[in-house]
Amino acid sequence: MSVRETVLRGGAGENPEEPTRKMEDPRPVDPVEEKLRPQKLAEIVGQRATAERLAIALVASKKRGEPLPHILFDGPPGLGKTTFATVLHNELGVELNMTSGPALDKKMDVMPYLTNASEGSILFIDEIHRLPKPVEEFIYPVMEDFRVDVVLGEGMSARTINLPLKKFTIIGATTRSGMLSGPLRDRFHMHEHLEFYDVEDLARIVEVNAVKLKTTITADAAWELARRSRGTPRLANARLRWVRDFATARADGNIDLTIARDALAMQDVDKEGMDKQDRRYLETLIGVFRGGPTGAESLAATMSIDVDTLKDEVEPYLLRRHLVVLTPRGRKATHLAYRHLGMAEPEPEPEVNFLDQRRLFD
Ligand code: ADP
Repeated sequence: MSVRETVLRGGAGENPEEPTRKMEDPRPVDPVEEKLRPQKLAEIVGQRATAERLAIALVASKKRGEPLPHILFDGPPGLGKTTFATVLHNELGVELNMTSGPALDKKMDVMPYLTNASEGSILFIDEIHRLPKPVEEFIYPVMEDFRVDVVLGEGMSARTINLPLKKFTIIGATTRSGMLSGPLRDRFHMHEHLEFYDVEDLARIVEVNAVKLKTTITADAAWELARRSRGTPRLANARLRWVRDFATARADGNIDLTIARDALAMQDVDKEGMDKQDRRYLETLIGVFRGGPTGAESLAATMSIDVDTLKDEVEPYLLRRHLVVLTPRGRKATHLAYRHLGMAEPEPEPEVNFLDQRRLFD
């Protein structure tokens, strides 16, 4: 059962006539993306170590009849954090509610998710690093003891009551694990870091999803798409959808290597898979800031983009490809960045030899 269906029908495995849950996912849902999302663990491609650890947690949870431990996924956008949460909910046949840090502004925003959670269900909180501190502290006792502490009344007559909750699992997802407070991080029993995918795994994802999209793609075209998708399944899906449209408009709908290359060229995706935004980042860093080091804020302001977009979406892959390095004084372009843009690297500044200088005055 898909997340969407669960939202409409109330938890998985329950009587569809009697929906018990109507928590809306505040994040935008793309129906095609949902269609491409793996539903079972066996459909997951790559991330082997994480998938194996989750398989163990699933078996243990089923054997003991207990909820899954609280799990934290971290990694750049589009690598599978939501997908893993969806898969776990399908494998266990439990209810899944989805929300995100920015949507939980006040304690009362999170309350319905806690009190409506059924035994063994999963609450997925995307961008959990954006939870306001009071909300974060409010969920500590939930994660430890499955209770919330509610203050009733004000002033002298105020009293705290402990409200017991059903035992359920919180799955947190973050693109910035460094921004998570220590106490919140420590309350997750499993920490899974998702890595960029290698070309082989991405090519497999492209081939599987081409079938789901009812289009044919040659092996070399799938490989080309995978090579040019920045190690990210979500991007591979988006590029596959564009190439499919291109093949339909310009040819018979079948994707071969020439079609794939022409379609990607039209979207300004270069041979390494970098898009306009990536190149602008490197051009700004090199052209305006002489290769750095410079701070993220200055770079983002010069590019007129949001600093979070720069840090979450643009930089991680450039760092991974060693086009950019982080130094204590900021971002710095490497020789690979100059080479990628076909620009000459500036000569290093000559070191001043003070001994020689002194000799000049002797
Ligand atoms: P995140 O939550 O990390 O931003 P998602 O889980 O939404 O990323 O992944 C985006 C899309 O990429 C999914 O809809 C799915 O189609 C695809 N995807 C992600 N991880 C995998 C995987 N391990 N195997 C196959 N497809 C994947």
